[in-house]
Amino acid sequence: MKHDLNAYYAELRRRSLRQLEARQRECAALDPAFSALQTKRSRVLFMPAQGAKLTLSTIRLEEEALLKKHGLPRDYLQPAYVCPLCRDTGLVGEPVQRKCACRLKLEQQFRAEAARINDRETFEGFRPDIYPDDVSLQNGRKIMAFCQKYADTLPSPKIPQLFLYGQAGRGKSFMGNAIAARAIERGIDSLRLTAYRMTEEVMAGFSGNASPLPRFTQVPLLVLDDLGTEPMIPNVTAESLFAIADQRSSARLATVYISNLTREELRDRYGDRIASRITDAAITKEICFAGASLRSRIEDGR
Ligand SMILES: [Zn+2]
Repeated sequence: MKHDLNAYYAELRRRSLRQLEARQRECAALDPAFSALQTKRSRVLFMPAQGAKLTLSTIRLEEEALLKKHGLPRDYLQPAYVCPLCRDTGLVGEPVQRKCACRLKLEQQFRAEAARINDRETFEGFRPDIYPDDVSLQNGRKIMAFCQKYADTLPSPKIPQLFLYGQAGRGKSFMGNAIAARAIERGIDSLRLTAYRMTEEVMAGFSGNASPLPRFTQVPLLVLDDLGTEPMIPNVTAESLFAIADQRSSARLATVYISNLTREELRDRYGDRIASRITDAAITKEICFAGASLRSRIEDGR
């Protein structure tokens, strides 16, 4: 996930410059006085700083009067930035620069992308029509209300851990994504990935220079999906899962574990050390997704 934001901003500036040049040509064709002002302006480059400033503001006034005469907006010959705050540099502040709001927003979007959170499975996208009967719909609504509250009280919900379990196709991943999407929307750094993917990234980390573990142990919200389907690589899978579950539970960091396994099956697969942290009753809410599969109905509705 490499996003070169500097290149992005440079491209924005190139575009607005091209548009400005087009407007300059348009004005020059309209009235030679515009070109005369441009010539005057280019001479300012060779003037001492003090006088230059004054001359520039005089030229600007003349230009505005000329634009008005031709019925054009007064900023017609100013660069039109997408973000006037940072003039499409992504940075604001003098002399100490910081990231502009527009850049923070972009980074947030990239983070959502990198965190594999999609914008279709959200609380707003909840579909009552996929539930086969009233009882399961009521259950679905109850679970959603709980998850929504959890997401809205992040990064420190009253109960920091969720353990969502049940058979495939009951909407667990949907809820996990909806929580992460809401968190990202609220500016909370989040990561949603499958246990499989996590194992893969931990493995890749061994050949790289930086361990990926701190990202998983420290991110304010971690949604770990499909727990139990990942390969059990000796010295990797259980060890990294333990490190993550242990550090996150003792720091009370918001973590959503999603699995087809029950608590007992979890213990069989990973051992008590790991299972007890994932389902620690003092800090975990267990939610069972029961009932008929929603999958065929989801597909029908699409
Ligand atoms: Zn900006």
